[in-house]
Amino acid sequence: MNISKLYLCPACEKPLMSRMSPRCNRCGVMVPPELLYSQEERARIRAEEKACVERLRLENEAKRKAAEKSVQDSVLPMFFSHNPPTSET
Ligand SMILES: [Zn+2]
Repeated sequence: MNISKLYLCPACEKPLMSRMSPRCNRCGVMVPPELLYSQEERARIRAEEKACVERLRLENEAKRKAAEKSVQDSVLPMFFSHNPPTSET
């Protein structure tokens, strides 16, 4: 298996930017399936992407919760230290 093999579009003979897309993203011609990732490879790549997105989402959520907590920790004492708003009625 030659990993340096270039996957060229049969129409414009430019390297395929994405082997996920069924069309050449330069000239728009349909690319032969043998140049694209197989169903299995695509499924694996999607699963990896999904796992990656999920991990990022969990990380962001943890960060957001930590940020919310630190905001609460800093805002609440400030809020309670303020004088109650005066009524104008
Ligand atoms: Zn092309």
